[in-house]
Amino acid sequence: MSRRKVFFYYREDDQSQRAAQHIKERSQAYGFTILNTHHDADIICSIGSDGTFLQAVRHTGFRTNSLYVGIHLENLGFYCDFSAKKIEDLFEAMDKEMLQVRRYPVIQSTINETSSFYCLNECSIRSSILKTFVMEVYIDGEYFETFRGDGMVIATPTGSTGYNKSVGGAVVDPKLPCFQVSEISSINNNDFRTLGSSFILGEDRQLTLKITHEGLQHPLVGMDNEAINFSAIRQVDVKLADFRIKTLKMKSNSFWDKVKRRFL
Ligand code: NAP
Ligand code: MN
Repeated sequence: MSRRKVFFYYREDDQSQRAAQHIKERSQAYGFTILNTHHDADIICSIGSDGTFLQAVRHTGFRTNSLYVGIHLENLGFYCDFSAKKIEDLFEAMDKEMLQVRRYPVIQSTINETSSFYCLNECSIRSSILKTFVMEVYIDGEYFETFRGDGMVIATPTGSTGYNKSVGGAVVDPKLPCFQVSEISSINNNDFRTLGSSFILGEDRQLTLKITHEGLQHPLVGMDNEAINFSAIRQVDVKLADFRIKTLKMKSNSFWDKVKRRFL
């Protein structure tokens, strides 16, 4: 491998620190240079859980010129193809060319037509009060439905096994560039009607959610595992970003192997 400059991202707790120390030593022995910031890194390596991987990608700004590598402290995860407990497997796989680069679609969410954020798992929008939350849903600028309920989850294919799955969404193959819209407890009766099932939009589509401020609605908007701070959210536009995140995987470890390992 010609990519030799690595930045490690991990949490401050003892277990993460210890694992990181060990992995750094082993990486140096393999000829990798360890950087203190991510800016010039060829490889950004997260050590922790899938949640840590999401943070690593977010904190390094969704870089397209770096390869992301996920190492899990315990087992394996959806973004973590390697285990800290068997770190030699990673170096052995490098030597034997058992690795592959995989590209994951990313969602771009724009708030109030001004600030854009990227998400690797999902963008979620939820009511922060006990009253139902109302928003108009548009697809490519055309009115689609008016939602009334707790909120919505807009997930990438890799995010489809996270929050999206808990609210009844389908698991989507990350080879498909698309995003999925799932409801969180919609009200459906003679007065209010939504589609009621999840729907999947193609890569050129745009979803718009308009929050009509009838009553005082303060939705909570989450981008992966981070809540964004906005006082008055009027509109959220969601589409696929025009880039993908590159991650390192074992050739033998397909997305569907992971789904089976985690859920079946
Ligand atoms: P967390 O509360 O620790 O995460 C909840 C669980 O989701 C953890 O077991 C986490 O795995 C797992 N997870 C994360 N991304 C996943 C993916 N793409 N596919 C399958 N499982 C996934 O919080 P977190 O670690 O910061 O993760 C944030 C994510 O949690 C959000 O992006 C959302 O997808 C999910 N979430 C789910 C619900 C729900 O199901 N009701 C509610 C809120 C958030 P690790 O233990 O390896 O981190
Ligand atoms: Mn977690």
